[in-house]
Amino acid sequence: VWSALSALKTQTDYLIALQRRIGTCRLCEYGVLRDEQGMRAVPGTGSHETPVIFIGEGPGEEEARQGEPFVGRAGQYLTSLLNSINLPRARVYITNIVKCRPPGNETPKPECITACLPYLKAQIALVRPRVIVLLGNTALTAVLGKEQRLQTLRGQARQKSGIIYFVTYHPAAVLRSANTIEPVITRDFETLKALLQRYCPEVFR
Ligand code: SF4
Repeated sequence: VWSALSALKTQTDYLIALQRRIGTCRLCEYGVLRDEQGMRAVPGTGSHETPVIFIGEGPGEEEARQGEPFVGRAGQYLTSLLNSINLPRARVYITNIVKCRPPGNETPKPECITACLPYLKAQIALVRPRVIVLLGNTALTAVLGKEQRLQTLRGQARQKSGIIYFVTYHPAAVLRSANTIEPVITRDFETLKALLQRYCPEVFR
């Protein structure tokens, strides 16, 4: 990824080139399916100069249609959570572990995660966030390691290599079990708000 981008000058140039490359990538079977089904890759969206990145699992059907992450029902719920803590969606960067839709919304296959992770690493290196919010188990284990447990880390901050990681449920979990997950994720976002006010208050302005 880096060698092909090395001729470019600015952070935005790099990110746009990366988005183009993801758009035609066929490094794993999800890219082949994407082309066969006339769907789009979903590289990511939002501010390139933000201190905060949100990372989900992979695009759903609506996302793959529009080429935008978190625009389906789970995405609308994420937007409402962001609104509830007065954090405009346009002020953060939002992406996924895999950039093409896993068929039937399956949990992404390990080999597809491995093929796709260099794109996420490049996005993180370019945006240089202070805080990364990991939404759900796939994001947690892909970024922080297979041994990590959502139930143990949820609602907490953890520092690694100069970045603060905050873990909570994926918004889609609320659509499956609203009664149990919604109060917890709402509390987690209040905790996240306090964290962001402490480490990067500029994101609210
Ligand atoms: S999911 Fe990632 S690795 Fe697989 S084809 Fe899409 S962009 Fe490439």
